[in-house]
Amino acid sequence: MMNRRQLISSAVAGAALHGRVPKALAATYELIIKGGRVIDPSMDLDAVRDVAIAGGKIAAVEANIAGDATETIDARGRTVAAGLIDIHTHAGRSKEGPPLLLKDGVTGWVDAGSGGADNIDAVAAVARGAPQIGRVLVNIARTGVISPGGELHDINAANVALAQGAIARNRDVVVGVKARLSENVAGTNDLEALRRAQEAAAPFNLPVMIHIGQSFSPMRAILPLLKRGDIVTHMYAPAPNGILDEKGRLFPDVTAARRRGIIFDFGNGVLDHFDWATVERATKQGFWPDTISTDWNVMSKTTGVVDLPNVMSKFIMFGIPLDRIIACATVNAARVFPSFDDRGTLNVGAPADVAIMELSEGAFEFLDNYKGTRPGRQRLFPAGTVLAGKEVPRA
Ligand SMILES: [Zn+2]
Repeated sequence: MMNRRQLISSAVAGAALHGRVPKALAATYELIIKGGRVIDPSMDLDAVRDVAIAGGKIAAVEANIAGDATETIDARGRTVAAGLIDIHTHAGRSKEGPPLLLKDGVTGWVDAGSGGADNIDAVAAVARGAPQIGRVLVNIARTGVISPGGELHDINAANVALAQGAIARNRDVVVGVKARLSENVAGTNDLEALRRAQEAAAPFNLPVMIHIGQSFSPMRAILPLLKRGDIVTHMYAPAPNGILDEKGRLFPDVTAARRRGIIFDFGNGVLDHFDWATVERATKQGFWPDTISTDWNVMSKTTGVVDLPNVMSKFIMFGIPLDRIIACATVNAARVFPSFDDRGTLNVGAPADVAIMELSEGAFEFLDNYKGTRPGRQRLFPAGTVLAGKEVPRA
């Protein structure tokens, strides 16, 4: 690692030694990330490459980039990907959240329904103040998430006019509407709550994210209320009323929903949102996630979530190729919301958001939401983040 000052002083020393004046001291690049295994599904790239950054943008992704740089990061033996995007978090609950996520390699996040009409302004303020791009889904329930208890047991909490007002006054950061449909949240009101979420979103042309699993109504009643671009989170929630029938087969309605453009998101969480058996049965039938998210909050380090790279690692065990897993947390996630249009890629010209990870070999234990553990031999660890071309301090 050589910083700008060292570079200049060595150049000056060299000039004195050789008795000539150094020509250009300005480095070609601000930063070069050297020699990592660059996995960028947006470019179908998985190879050892250098990534050069200038003006806060990706300037080149090539083997052995020759130009000099103000800073270099030695990424040999590491995995280098576009900055990770986590579309289901609760990072908007406090201003401490977003900087913690940034250390995990997460350079874009969505808070999925922490706040409703009554308290969304505070969540939106956290998003605006975040170091990376933060966006927000308004909970259709005016209270936002109430746990325990459930925000939709009284359907009057799902007030369309108030939700629309909340969207209108936070249009810069609100990117959709959230509805939690589990029976413990919504009782028998799941379908009506979803109808109201769609009604709130419609004038703004925004997607709705639903949280499924253990709902009163079955998927065959819920899915017809979703439109192209809407998101189903907690996709591997176990019965009752998940994506599998009583014999463990995918409901045809579920695969049909994917074909018409509904997005299926992992949403790790801590309670009732997935078990290994459902992941195994669904992935064996080819039903992989479109996006991998954490349902993260500031306490997640001490749960089965840990961080987004840990959640991504769970899919290595199920035989999903690493580039497909990385796609779920980069380019696929970026395509869900227009705010991330130019993210999730290391293509030349893109904002220089980069996640550096270590793919470690060893004996690792992964956790579902039912205290089920599974052994894995590989795990991704966060090993560095670059945001808009600047290395994020690790400490
Ligand atoms: Zn959540």
